[in-house]
Amino acid sequence: MKVFKFGGASVKNAEGVTNVFKILESFKNSKLLVVISAMGKTTNALERIVDLYFAKDNALNQDIDALKRFHVDIASDIFPNHHDVFESIQGIIDDLLATLKRNKSTQYDFVYDQIVSYGELLSTTIVSAYLNQNGLQNIYVDAREFIKTDTTHRDAKVDWETTQSLIKNNLPEHNLIITQGFIGSDANNFTTTLGREGSDYSAGIFAYCLNAESVSIWKDVPGVLNADPRVFEETQLLHHISYGEAIELAFYGASVIHPKTLQPLQRKEIPLFVKSFQNPEEEGTSVKKGQPLDPYIPCFIVKKNQILLSLSSLDFSFIVEDNISQIFSLFHQYQIKVDLIQNSAISFSVCLDDRFNHFEKLLPELKAKFKISYNQNVDLYTIRHFNELAIKQLEKDKDVFLKQITRETCQIVGRYRKN
Ligand code: ADP
Ligand code: ASP
Ligand code: MG
Repeated sequence: MKVFKFGGASVKNAEGVTNVFKILESFKNSKLLVVISAMGKTTNALERIVDLYFAKDNALNQDIDALKRFHVDIASDIFPNHHDVFESIQGIIDDLLATLKRNKSTQYDFVYDQIVSYGELLSTTIVSAYLNQNGLQNIYVDAREFIKTDTTHRDAKVDWETTQSLIKNNLPEHNLIITQGFIGSDANNFTTTLGREGSDYSAGIFAYCLNAESVSIWKDVPGVLNADPRVFEETQLLHHISYGEAIELAFYGASVIHPKTLQPLQRKEIPLFVKSFQNPEEEGTSVKKGQPLDPYIPCFIVKKNQILLSLSSLDFSFIVEDNISQIFSLFHQYQIKVDLIQNSAISFSVCLDDRFNHFEKLLPELKAKFKISYNQNVDLYTIRHFNELAIKQLEKDKDVFLKQITRETCQIVGRYRKN
Protein backbone atom coordinates (compact mmCIF):
# COMPACT_ATOMS: atom_id res chain seq x y z
CA MET A 1 0.00 0.00 0.00
CA LYS A 2 1.12 3.55 -0.76
CA VAL A 3 0.10 6.62 1.21
CA PHE A 4 -0.51 9.92 -0.59
CA LYS A 5 -1.12 13.31 0.93
CA PHE A 6 -2.66 16.27 -0.83
CA GLY A 7 -2.37 19.60 0.96
CA GLY A 8 -4.53 22.70 0.96
CA ALA A 9 -2.83 24.20 -2.10
CA SER A 10 -3.61 21.13 -4.23
CA VAL A 11 -7.36 21.34 -3.57
CA LYS A 12 -7.81 25.08 -3.35
CA ASN A 13 -10.31 25.20 -6.24
CA ALA A 14 -12.30 23.02 -8.64
CA GLU A 15 -9.35 22.67 -11.00
CA GLY A 16 -7.30 21.38 -8.07
CA VAL A 17 -9.86 18.68 -7.32
CA THR A 18 -9.93 17.53 -10.95
CA ASN A 19 -6.14 17.51 -10.95
CA VAL A 20 -6.10 15.26 -7.87
CA PHE A 21 -8.49 12.97 -9.74
CA LYS A 22 -6.08 12.80 -12.70
CA ILE A 23 -3.13 11.97 -10.47
CA LEU A 24 -5.06 9.26 -8.64
CA GLU A 25 -6.34 7.85 -11.92
CA SER A 26 -2.77 7.36 -13.07
CA PHE A 27 -2.21 5.19 -9.98
CA LYS A 28 -5.35 3.13 -10.57
CA ASN A 29 -3.42 -0.09 -10.23
CA SER A 30 -1.91 0.74 -6.85
CA LYS A 31 -3.51 0.30 -3.48
CA LEU A 32 -3.73 3.79 -1.99
CA LEU A 33 -4.65 5.54 1.21
CA VAL A 34 -5.06 9.24 0.47
CA VAL A 35 -4.84 11.89 3.17
CA ILE A 36 -6.36 15.27 2.29
CA SER A 37 -6.13 18.67 4.02
CA ALA A 38 -8.69 21.43 4.15
CA MET A 39 -9.16 23.32 0.88
CA GLY A 40 -6.95 26.37 0.31
CA LYS A 41 -6.93 28.66 3.32
CA THR A 42 -9.98 27.08 4.97
CA THR A 43 -8.18 26.38 8.24
CA ASN A 44 -7.39 30.08 8.61
CA ALA A 45 -11.05 30.89 7.90
CA LEU A 46 -12.11 28.42 10.60
CA GLU A 47 -9.63 29.88 13.08
CA ARG A 48 -11.34 33.21 12.52
CA ILE A 49 -14.72 31.59 13.08
CA VAL A 50 -13.51 30.29 16.46
CA ASP A 51 -12.31 33.79 17.37
CA LEU A 52 -15.61 35.39 16.36
CA TYR A 53 -17.49 32.78 18.36
CA PHE A 54 -15.49 33.56 21.50
CA ALA A 55 -15.79 37.30 20.90
CA LYS A 56 -19.57 36.86 20.47
CA ASP A 57 -19.15 38.85 17.27
CA ASN A 58 -22.11 39.13 14.90
CA ALA A 59 -19.86 38.54 11.92
CA LEU A 60 -19.80 34.86 12.91
CA ASN A 61 -22.77 33.88 10.75
CA GLN A 62 -21.42 35.76 7.75
CA ASP A 63 -18.14 33.92 8.06
CA ILE A 64 -19.88 30.56 8.28
CA ASP A 65 -21.92 31.48 5.20
CA ALA A 66 -18.72 32.39 3.37
CA LEU A 67 -17.17 29.06 4.38
CA LYS A 68 -20.19 27.24 2.99
CA ARG A 69 -20.25 29.32 -0.19
CA PHE A 70 -16.56 28.64 -0.85
CA HIS A 71 -17.17 24.88 -0.78
CA VAL A 72 -20.50 25.00 -2.64
CA ASP A 73 -18.87 27.11 -5.38
CA ILE A 74 -16.10 24.56 -5.85
CA ALA A 75 -18.65 21.73 -5.92
CA SER A 76 -20.89 23.63 -8.38
CA ASP A 77 -18.04 23.72 -10.89
CA ILE A 78 -17.53 19.96 -10.88
CA PHE A 79 -20.83 18.30 -9.96
CA PRO A 80 -24.23 18.29 -11.68
CA ASN A 81 -26.85 20.52 -10.02
CA HIS A 82 -28.70 17.98 -7.94
CA HIS A 83 -25.81 15.85 -6.79
CA ASP A 84 -25.94 14.49 -3.23
CA VAL A 85 -22.70 16.30 -2.43
CA PHE A 86 -24.62 19.56 -1.90
CA GLU A 87 -26.70 17.92 0.78
CA SER A 88 -23.57 16.52 2.37
CA ILE A 89 -21.95 19.98 2.47
CA GLN A 90 -25.11 21.42 4.03
CA GLY A 91 -25.10 18.55 6.55
CA ILE A 92 -21.53 19.36 7.61
CA ILE A 93 -22.31 23.08 7.95
CA ASP A 94 -25.42 22.27 10.00
CA ASP A 95 -23.31 20.06 12.19
CA LEU A 96 -20.78 22.86 12.68
CA LEU A 97 -23.59 25.26 13.67
CA ALA A 98 -25.04 22.68 16.06
CA THR A 99 -21.62 22.08 17.65
CA LEU A 100 -21.24 25.81 18.32
CA LYS A 101 -24.77 26.06 19.68
CA ARG A 102 -24.36 23.06 21.96
CA ASN A 103 -20.93 24.04 23.23
CA LYS A 104 -20.58 24.90 26.90
CA SER A 105 -16.80 24.79 27.10
CA THR A 106 -14.87 27.98 27.63
CA GLN A 107 -11.59 26.28 26.81
CA TYR A 108 -10.32 27.89 23.66
CA ASP A 109 -8.08 25.06 22.49
CA PHE A 110 -10.78 22.43 22.99
CA VAL A 111 -13.37 24.43 21.05
CA TYR A 112 -10.76 25.23 18.39
CA ASP A 113 -10.28 21.54 17.62
CA GLN A 114 -14.03 20.81 17.52
CA ILE A 115 -14.51 23.59 14.94
CA VAL A 116 -11.35 23.79 12.86
CA SER A 117 -11.62 20.09 11.97
CA TYR A 118 -14.66 20.82 9.76
CA GLY A 119 -12.29 22.03 7.02
CA GLU A 120 -10.91 18.55 6.51
CA LEU A 121 -14.39 16.98 6.74
CA LEU A 122 -15.63 19.27 3.96
CA SER A 123 -12.65 18.72 1.66
CA THR A 124 -12.60 14.93 1.96
CA THR A 125 -16.37 14.71 1.45
CA ILE A 126 -16.10 16.69 -1.78
CA VAL A 127 -13.03 14.90 -3.12
CA SER A 128 -14.34 11.44 -2.28
CA ALA A 129 -17.68 12.17 -3.98
CA TYR A 130 -15.94 13.60 -7.04
CA LEU A 131 -13.74 10.54 -7.44
CA ASN A 132 -16.73 8.20 -7.06
CA GLN A 133 -18.73 10.19 -9.57
CA ASN A 134 -15.96 9.88 -12.12
CA GLY A 135 -15.30 6.20 -11.81
CA LEU A 136 -12.60 6.09 -9.14
CA GLN A 137 -14.46 4.03 -6.59
CA ASN A 138 -13.22 4.84 -3.11
CA ILE A 139 -14.32 4.72 0.47
CA TYR A 140 -14.38 7.66 2.81
CA VAL A 141 -12.92 6.99 6.23
CA ASP A 142 -13.12 9.29 9.25
CA ALA A 143 -9.53 9.66 10.49
CA ARG A 144 -10.82 10.31 14.03
CA GLU A 145 -11.86 6.68 14.29
CA PHE A 146 -8.24 5.63 13.78
CA ILE A 147 -5.84 8.31 14.95
CA LYS A 148 -6.15 8.37 18.73
CA THR A 149 -4.41 11.03 20.75
CA ASP A 150 -4.12 12.56 24.19
CA THR A 151 -6.11 15.70 25.04
CA THR A 152 -3.44 18.31 24.25
CA HIS A 153 -5.77 20.25 22.01
CA ARG A 154 -4.16 21.96 18.99
CA ASP A 155 -0.99 19.94 19.49
CA ALA A 156 -2.22 16.45 20.30
CA LYS A 157 0.20 13.61 20.94
CA VAL A 158 -0.50 10.33 19.20
CA ASP A 159 -1.40 7.25 21.24
CA TRP A 160 0.59 4.93 19.02
CA GLU A 161 -0.51 1.65 20.51
CA THR A 162 -4.26 2.28 20.16
CA THR A 163 -3.83 3.94 16.76
CA GLN A 164 -1.76 1.03 15.48
CA SER A 165 -4.32 -1.51 16.64
CA LEU A 166 -7.33 0.40 15.24
CA ILE A 167 -5.67 0.83 11.85
CA LYS A 168 -4.59 -2.80 11.76
CA ASN A 169 -7.91 -4.25 12.82
CA ASN A 170 -10.60 -1.81 11.68
CA LEU A 171 -9.43 -0.07 8.53
CA PRO A 172 -11.67 -1.34 5.74
CA GLU A 173 -10.10 -3.31 2.91
CA HIS A 174 -10.25 -1.21 -0.25
CA ASN A 175 -7.97 -0.15 -3.08
CA LEU A 176 -8.65 3.53 -2.57
CA ILE A 177 -9.27 5.01 0.84
CA ILE A 178 -9.87 8.75 1.32
CA THR A 179 -9.33 10.26 4.74
CA GLN A 180 -8.49 13.51 6.52
CA GLY A 181 -5.16 14.85 7.59
CA PHE A 182 -4.60 16.89 10.74
CA ILE A 183 -7.43 15.45 12.85
CA GLY A 184 -7.72 12.70 15.42
CA SER A 185 -9.69 12.07 18.57
CA ASP A 186 -9.09 11.51 22.25
CA ALA A 187 -10.21 8.59 24.40
CA ASN A 188 -13.65 10.20 24.82
CA ASN A 189 -13.96 10.66 21.06
CA PHE A 190 -13.65 14.42 21.17
CA THR A 191 -11.86 15.78 18.13
CA THR A 192 -8.20 16.74 18.49
CA THR A 193 -5.76 18.25 15.99
CA LEU A 194 -2.10 17.51 15.46
CA GLY A 195 -0.87 21.09 15.04
CA ARG A 196 -1.03 23.43 12.07
CA GLU A 197 0.20 21.86 8.85
CA GLY A 198 -0.12 18.48 10.55
CA SER A 199 -1.54 16.58 7.57
CA ASP A 200 1.90 15.48 6.43
CA TYR A 201 2.25 13.92 9.86
CA SER A 202 -1.11 12.14 9.48
CA ALA A 203 0.25 10.56 6.30
CA GLY A 204 3.33 9.46 8.25
CA ILE A 205 1.17 7.93 11.00
CA PHE A 206 -1.01 5.94 8.58
CA ALA A 207 2.08 4.82 6.64
CA TYR A 208 3.81 3.64 9.81
CA CYS A 209 0.79 1.68 11.03
CA LEU A 210 0.15 0.15 7.60
CA ASN A 211 3.81 -0.66 6.90
CA ALA A 212 3.27 1.28 3.70
CA GLU A 213 5.62 0.92 0.76
CA SER A 214 6.07 4.71 0.47
CA VAL A 215 4.55 8.10 1.23
CA SER A 216 4.14 10.81 -1.41
CA ILE A 217 3.25 14.33 -0.41
CA TRP A 218 2.02 16.40 -3.36
CA LYS A 219 3.01 20.05 -3.19
CA ASP A 220 2.96 23.29 -5.18
CA VAL A 221 6.76 23.13 -5.52
CA PRO A 222 8.89 20.66 -7.52
CA GLY A 223 10.07 18.98 -4.31
CA VAL A 224 12.29 19.99 -1.42
CA LEU A 225 14.32 22.98 -2.60
CA ASN A 226 17.48 24.35 -1.01
CA ALA A 227 15.44 27.38 0.12
CA ASP A 228 11.85 28.52 0.39
CA PRO A 229 10.98 29.99 -3.03
CA ARG A 230 8.66 32.51 -1.35
CA VAL A 231 11.66 34.07 0.38
CA PHE A 232 14.70 33.34 -1.77
CA GLU A 233 14.98 34.23 -5.44
CA GLU A 234 17.21 31.43 -6.62
CA THR A 235 16.46 27.92 -5.49
CA GLN A 236 17.55 24.47 -6.55
CA LEU A 237 15.79 21.14 -6.25
CA LEU A 238 17.30 18.63 -3.84
CA HIS A 239 16.94 15.30 -5.65
CA HIS A 240 17.94 13.02 -2.82
CA ILE A 241 18.20 13.55 0.89
CA SER A 242 18.53 11.32 3.93
CA TYR A 243 15.97 11.11 6.74
CA GLY A 244 18.50 12.80 9.01
CA GLU A 245 18.93 15.73 6.66
CA ALA A 246 15.18 16.06 6.09
CA ILE A 247 14.55 16.01 9.84
CA GLU A 248 17.12 18.78 10.32
CA LEU A 249 15.65 20.89 7.51
CA ALA A 250 12.09 20.44 8.77
CA PHE A 251 13.13 21.06 12.37
CA TYR A 252 14.82 24.34 11.50
CA GLY A 253 11.67 25.43 9.67
CA ALA A 254 11.64 24.24 6.05
CA SER A 255 7.86 24.22 6.05
CA VAL A 256 7.57 21.98 3.00
CA ILE A 257 7.57 18.95 5.35
CA HIS A 258 5.94 18.97 8.77
CA PRO A 259 8.77 18.14 11.19
CA LYS A 260 6.95 15.26 12.92
CA THR A 261 6.36 13.42 9.64
CA LEU A 262 9.79 11.93 9.33
CA GLN A 263 10.35 10.04 12.58
CA PRO A 264 7.70 7.35 12.01
CA LEU A 265 8.89 6.90 8.43
CA GLN A 266 12.51 6.66 9.43
CA ARG A 267 11.74 4.03 12.06
CA LYS A 268 10.36 1.71 9.41
CA GLU A 269 12.55 3.00 6.58
CA ILE A 270 9.53 3.98 4.51
CA PRO A 271 10.66 6.28 1.68
CA LEU A 272 9.11 9.72 1.42
CA PHE A 273 8.62 11.41 -1.95
CA VAL A 274 7.92 15.10 -2.18
CA LYS A 275 6.38 15.77 -5.56
CA SER A 276 4.74 18.49 -7.58
CA PHE A 277 1.00 18.15 -8.12
CA GLN A 278 1.42 20.46 -11.11
CA ASN A 279 4.00 18.22 -12.78
CA PRO A 280 3.29 14.80 -11.33
CA GLU A 281 5.50 12.97 -13.82
CA GLU A 282 8.62 14.74 -12.49
CA GLU A 283 10.75 12.89 -9.97
CA GLY A 284 10.64 15.42 -7.14
CA THR A 285 12.67 14.72 -4.02
CA SER A 286 13.20 11.34 -2.46
CA VAL A 287 13.95 10.99 1.22
CA LYS A 288 15.53 7.67 2.14
CA LYS A 289 17.98 6.16 4.56
CA GLY A 290 21.57 7.31 4.29
CA GLN A 291 21.29 9.00 0.90
CA PRO A 292 23.88 11.73 0.62
CA LEU A 293 22.47 15.18 -0.04
CA ASP A 294 22.32 15.58 -3.81
CA PRO A 295 23.23 18.19 -4.90
CA TYR A 296 25.46 19.02 -1.94
CA ILE A 297 24.77 22.76 -1.62
CA PRO A 298 23.96 25.21 1.17
CA CYS A 299 20.31 25.04 2.24
CA PHE A 300 18.63 28.19 3.57
CA ILE A 301 15.75 28.12 6.00
CA VAL A 302 13.93 31.02 7.55
CA LYS A 303 11.55 31.04 10.49
CA LYS A 304 9.78 34.35 10.68
CA ASN A 305 8.33 36.17 13.60
CA GLN A 306 10.51 34.72 16.34
CA ILE A 307 11.45 36.25 19.68
CA LEU A 308 15.03 36.75 20.78
CA LEU A 309 15.10 36.74 24.56
CA SER A 310 18.10 37.34 26.81
CA LEU A 311 18.03 36.66 30.52
CA SER A 312 20.51 37.44 33.23
CA SER A 313 20.29 36.99 36.97
CA LEU A 314 19.07 39.92 39.07
CA ASP A 315 22.19 39.79 41.26
CA PHE A 316 24.78 39.20 38.52
CA SER A 317 25.31 35.65 39.68
CA PHE A 318 26.01 33.00 37.08
CA ILE A 319 23.26 31.51 34.97
CA VAL A 320 23.80 27.83 35.61
CA GLU A 321 22.02 24.51 35.25
CA ASP A 322 19.63 25.27 38.04
CA ASN A 323 18.25 28.50 36.49
CA ILE A 324 18.38 27.07 33.01
CA SER A 325 16.21 24.14 34.00
CA GLN A 326 13.71 26.53 35.64
CA ILE A 327 13.60 28.63 32.48
CA PHE A 328 13.06 25.60 30.28
CA SER A 329 10.29 24.23 32.38
CA LEU A 330 8.49 27.58 31.99
CA PHE A 331 8.90 27.43 28.21
CA HIS A 332 7.47 23.94 28.27
CA GLN A 333 4.56 24.97 30.44
CA TYR A 334 3.69 27.84 28.08
CA GLN A 335 4.17 25.71 24.93
CA ILE A 336 6.93 27.96 23.65
CA LYS A 337 9.45 26.29 21.40
CA VAL A 338 13.15 27.00 21.78
CA ASP A 339 14.89 27.19 18.42
CA LEU A 340 18.36 28.25 19.48
CA ILE A 341 20.32 28.61 22.70
CA GLN A 342 23.42 30.61 23.52
CA ASN A 343 24.82 31.27 26.96
CA SER A 344 27.64 33.11 28.63
CA ALA A 345 28.53 33.33 32.30
CA ILE A 346 25.88 35.80 33.34
CA SER A 347 23.46 35.82 30.46
CA PHE A 348 21.44 33.31 28.55
CA SER A 349 19.85 33.96 25.14
CA VAL A 350 17.23 31.95 23.34
CA CYS A 351 15.37 32.32 20.09
CA LEU A 352 11.74 31.40 20.66
CA ASP A 353 8.83 30.32 18.52
CA ASP A 354 5.68 31.43 20.31
CA ARG A 355 3.19 29.48 18.19
CA PHE A 356 0.28 29.92 20.55
CA ASN A 357 0.96 33.53 21.61
CA HIS A 358 1.70 32.71 25.23
CA PHE A 359 4.81 34.89 25.58
CA GLU A 360 2.99 37.85 27.12
CA LYS A 361 1.63 35.56 29.82
CA LEU A 362 5.05 34.10 30.52
CA LEU A 363 6.80 37.48 30.79
CA PRO A 364 5.75 38.41 34.37
CA GLU A 365 6.98 35.05 35.65
CA LEU A 366 10.37 35.56 34.03
CA LYS A 367 10.60 39.17 35.14
CA ALA A 368 10.10 38.12 38.74
CA LYS A 369 13.27 36.03 38.63
CA PHE A 370 15.53 37.48 35.96
CA LYS A 371 16.58 40.65 34.27
CA ILE A 372 15.35 40.31 30.74
CA SER A 373 15.51 41.99 27.37
CA TYR A 374 13.92 40.86 24.14
CA ASN A 375 13.28 41.63 20.50
CA GLN A 376 10.04 40.50 18.93
CA ASN A 377 9.47 39.99 15.24
CA VAL A 378 12.96 38.81 14.41
CA ASP A 379 13.75 36.10 11.88
CA LEU A 380 15.81 33.00 12.46
CA TYR A 381 17.90 32.03 9.45
CA THR A 382 19.55 28.67 9.28
CA ILE A 383 22.08 27.63 6.67
CA ARG A 384 22.81 23.92 6.53
CA HIS A 385 26.11 23.06 4.84
CA PHE A 386 27.07 26.71 4.85
CA ASN A 387 30.07 28.30 3.21
CA GLU A 388 31.47 31.81 3.56
CA LEU A 389 29.67 33.06 0.47
CA ALA A 390 26.32 31.78 1.71
CA ILE A 391 26.74 33.55 5.04
CA LYS A 392 27.82 36.77 3.35
CA GLN A 393 24.82 36.67 1.03
CA LEU A 394 22.45 36.21 3.90
CA GLU A 395 24.00 38.88 6.09
CA LYS A 396 24.31 41.59 3.48
CA ASP A 397 20.90 43.18 3.97
CA LYS A 398 20.21 42.23 7.60
CA ASP A 399 20.87 43.55 11.07
CA VAL A 400 22.36 40.57 12.84
CA PHE A 401 21.53 40.14 16.54
CA LEU A 402 23.05 36.76 17.13
CA LYS A 403 25.07 34.25 15.17
CA GLN A 404 25.97 30.68 15.98
CA ILE A 405 28.08 28.32 13.96
CA THR A 406 28.45 24.57 14.38
CA ARG A 407 30.04 22.09 12.03
CA GLU A 408 27.15 21.77 9.56
CA THR A 409 24.92 24.64 10.50
CA CYS A 410 25.08 28.42 10.74
CA GLN A 411 22.21 30.19 12.46
CA ILE A 412 21.58 33.89 12.40
CA VAL A 413 18.92 35.80 14.27
CA GLY A 414 18.29 39.03 12.42
CA ARG A 415 15.98 41.31 10.62
CA TYR A 416 15.95 43.05 7.25
CA ARG A 417 17.85 46.31 7.57
CA LYS A 418 15.68 49.36 7.11
CA ASN A 419 17.19 51.93 4.79
P1 ADP B 1 0.54 21.96 1.66
O1 ADP B 1 -0.25 22.33 0.44
O2 ADP B 1 0.82 20.51 1.73
O3 ADP B 1 -0.02 22.52 2.93
P2 ADP B 1 2.68 23.71 2.27
O4 ADP B 1 2.19 25.04 1.80
O5 ADP B 1 2.62 23.41 3.71
O6 ADP B 1 1.95 22.60 1.42
O7 ADP B 1 4.18 23.48 1.76
C1 ADP B 1 4.59 23.91 0.50
C2 ADP B 1 5.25 25.25 0.61
O8 ADP B 1 6.41 25.12 1.44
C3 ADP B 1 5.79 25.79 -0.68
O9 ADP B 1 4.83 26.52 -1.38
C4 ADP B 1 6.98 26.64 -0.24
O10 ADP B 1 6.65 28.01 -0.25
C5 ADP B 1 7.24 26.24 1.18
N1 ADP B 1 8.63 25.88 1.44
C6 ADP B 1 9.36 26.28 2.52
N2 ADP B 1 10.58 25.79 2.47
C7 ADP B 1 10.67 25.06 1.35
C8 ADP B 1 11.71 24.27 0.75
N3 ADP B 1 12.90 24.17 1.31
N4 ADP B 1 11.44 23.64 -0.40
C9 ADP B 1 10.24 23.73 -0.98
N5 ADP B 1 9.22 24.46 -0.48
C10 ADP B 1 9.43 25.12 0.67
N1 ASP C 1 -5.52 22.15 7.32
C1 ASP C 1 -4.50 22.16 8.34
C2 ASP C 1 -3.72 23.46 8.29
O1 ASP C 1 -3.93 24.26 7.38
C3 ASP C 1 -3.58 20.99 8.28
C4 ASP C 1 -2.72 20.91 7.04
O2 ASP C 1 -3.04 21.53 6.03
O3 ASP C 1 -1.72 20.21 7.07
O4 ASP C 1 -2.92 23.68 9.14
MG1 MG D 1 -0.27 23.21 4.55
